[in-house]
Amino acid sequence: MNMAMSRGLRCCQRIFSWIPVIIITAVVVWSYYAYVFELCLFTLDNTLEKVTYLGLFHVCFVMFSWTYWKSIFTPPSQPSKKFHLSYTDKERYEMEERPEVQKQILLEIAKKLPVFTRAASGAIRFCDRCQVIKPDRCHHCSVCEMCVLKMDHHCPWVNNCIGFSNYKFFLLFLSYSMLYCVFIAATVFQYFIKFWEGELSNGPAKFHVLFLMFVALMFFVSLMFLFSYHCWLVAKNRSTLAKEAFSAPVFQNGPDKDGFNAGFRKNLQQVFGEEKKYWLIPVFTSDSSLGDGHFFPMRCLNESQNPLLANEEQWEEEGSDEESSALRRECSVTIELES
Ligand SMILES: [Zn+2]
Ligand SMILES: [Zn+2]
Repeated sequence: MNMAMSRGLRCCQRIFSWIPVIIITAVVVWSYYAYVFELCLFTLDNTLEKVTYLGLFHVCFVMFSWTYWKSIFTPPSQPSKKFHLSYTDKERYEMEERPEVQKQILLEIAKKLPVFTRAASGAIRFCDRCQVIKPDRCHHCSVCEMCVLKMDHHCPWVNNCIGFSNYKFFLLFLSYSMLYCVFIAATVFQYFIKFWEGELSNGPAKFHVLFLMFVALMFFVSLMFLFSYHCWLVAKNRSTLAKEAFSAPVFQNGPDKDGFNAGFRKNLQQVFGEEKKYWLIPVFTSDSSLGDGHFFPMRCLNESQNPLLANEEQWEEEGSDEESSALRRECSVTIELES
């Protein structure tokens, strides 16, 4: 009985969680109708203007819909099998009652894995619910009930977890929604004035055009704040999760809020890929040399001892792939020696 109830509750929750997506979709469908029919087909007289507006509008609309779709339906990526405890390890871990020894067991298992961040206590980050050693930047999402690689946040507006697999799509979705709003506001403006001043006849078109302007501006302003925040995060290579944006991720040598900051250009490439021609298209392009979801290039942990690396510019400008992978190896070696 209890089982059935909690299952029913979860089912309800799952249905309710689609409400924000349905609201956004409804607003977009209405805006499509209002722009294409009420404005372009029923209000505009000039054919050239009509064709130009309709053409450009559809480009914005298609890009917006495509990125929205990809943000909603690209599943978050989970840690690979390597990070799950093997059957014997699990048994050993669960049988052990002393937390100190449990910590030791995890430490031993994690030695074989590229795990460099730690819990605030210094222990290996372990998810009890998923029974998985958390890779760097991976976090457990309580809504999705799973560990998500490079988790950024759980977004109700796309009803999906934004992380390693879909962060690019989410950023493009923000950009194209802003473009969509700007395009609408810019082209509707003169008709907004004409309707407002009564130069055009009162009819249903008036209502749609006035609202179109208000809604586009309202969405644009709120999106702008969110978008600028994410630009800052991308530039600094941090995620929205409190752990990276406000307090630093903890490494073996202690917390370092710029631990994953590889310089502006590399940070951008980590999200959008190396080839500029794919930057504005919602296809997955992140290069595995720049982080495969489980491992991310780090500023060397003991850079204080290495004056060459202390200079961020140097890292950015001269950090060709070969060099950075060499640095990476060097980092791993020092880490191994230390532990
Ligand atoms: Zn988990
Ligand atoms: Zn989630």
